[in-house]
Amino acid sequence: MTKKEKNNNADNETMNKIVSLCKRRGFIFPSSEIYGGFAAVYDYGPYGVELENAVKREWWRTMVRLREDIVGLDSGIFMHPRIWEASGHVAGFSDPLAECRNCHARLRVDHLLEDIGAQADEKMDEKEINEIFNEHKAEVKCPHCGKSDFTGVKKFNLLVKSNLGNFTDDWAKDPAYLRGETCQGIYVNYKNVLDSARVKIPFGIAQIGKAFRNEITARQFIFRTREFEQMEMQYFTSPDKEMEEYEKLRQARWQYYLDLGIREENLKWHKHENLVFYAKEAYDIEYNFPFGFKELEGVHARGDYDLSQHAKFSGKPLDYADPRTGEKYVPHVIESSVGVGRTVLAVLSDAYTEEKVGDEERVVMKFPRKLAPIKVAVFPLLKNKPELVAKAKAIYRDISVDYMCEFDDNGNIGKRYRRQDEIGTPYCVTVDFDTLENPPAGGDVTVRDRDTMKQERIKIEELMDYFKGKNLS
Ligand code: ATP
Repeated sequence: MTKKEKNNNADNETMNKIVSLCKRRGFIFPSSEIYGGFAAVYDYGPYGVELENAVKREWWRTMVRLREDIVGLDSGIFMHPRIWEASGHVAGFSDPLAECRNCHARLRVDHLLEDIGAQADEKMDEKEINEIFNEHKAEVKCPHCGKSDFTGVKKFNLLVKSNLGNFTDDWAKDPAYLRGETCQGIYVNYKNVLDSARVKIPFGIAQIGKAFRNEITARQFIFRTREFEQMEMQYFTSPDKEMEEYEKLRQARWQYYLDLGIREENLKWHKHENLVFYAKEAYDIEYNFPFGFKELEGVHARGDYDLSQHAKFSGKPLDYADPRTGEKYVPHVIESSVGVGRTVLAVLSDAYTEEKVGDEERVVMKFPRKLAPIKVAVFPLLKNKPELVAKAKAIYRDISVDYMCEFDDNGNIGKRYRRQDEIGTPYCVTVDFDTLENPPAGGDVTVRDRDTMKQERIKIEELMDYFKGKNLS
């Protein structure tokens, strides 16, 4: 086995462990499992939805709440079909696909070529990518069966079609699309926001919402799914300030991941060499997933393409009269675009830890505390002592007012710690007989820290102050 193959196996092992933990502990389930599954769609379970909400909350806090110059939006999933013509998605939103003649797996040719170090990307037209693929065919192996026998490359459109509002049998000729990205909803509302909110250029519009893509290869768990959520911010600038604002946005986005608690060594910039004709510059922030560094977020300078296209296709002028200079121009756009699922997978990968504790091994999800699905778990030492249970329940109810909290009286304390470690709960509170000893003072409890495993006695009336200092939300 080569060193690369060995590393790949170890990486796959980590990925398999994360996928299995997610299922076992109620983070993420494959869709429609009792019906045999539905490819490339995942459901978020009780802890997954908390983690996902925490990710979205942090993004919104950074992007909207703490920014005077950015406002929020929630546009519909369905939009006028011409929008997708204006954006270029109907004609050009496609991925290059080839089939393995041996095992019939459908493969993304740009990814196969990237893996062997050949320059290719999904924006190339069919002819161009076929030429490069033909040149390198012999070096490329099917990742499923290892054979090297492929069909030619065909480009497949990623837009998902629907019959919404169309009651004829041939609706597919004039379909309504499920949006392939959320930012088009931002562009077509640019003028509404400008006219109604008190914003002046430069300003941004941020949105979190579902997007749908008919992805050809849907592997790597929630990294690439057919239904997913995006967090996108489009920032409108004057032409001369575009690149200056772009640099600021790049720095802000890098800092965001550090503040989120992602380890810096797992992040890197990837510059796009092959730019679409209108783009000024494009970088991705890549994360070191268990299967290697891959795109987490795109930060792109897009020129005036987006608003110009919508002005052209809708016939409505979208230019801006600058109140400071009197100048008229179509605003330029810089964007930050990231998937919720990809962020969740980066957070899961960053947090997954195996540790030796004495003779035992523990698995612990070391989530940054503000992202942890459950902040505090409360246990009565024994399940069958009503006075311990009543006290623990009362503490659980008090903490729940401020934090996501869980009550657990199942099995012994060691087992409960192991379970809370696996779902990444930063603090466990145990009510024992000493807690009941001194009722007038309210007693004290044991608080155990997830990462250090240290335990300390804290007075019940001081518990909330204790948690307040721990950056739990
Ligand atoms: P990729 O090259 O991985 O297909 P992309 O360049 O097509 O991604 P964009 O269109 O720039 O992606 O979308 C912005 C972000 O949305 C991506 O950085 C990613 O985080 C997320 N995203 C895109 N497609 C998917 C998908 N199929 N599943 C999950 N997240 C996605």
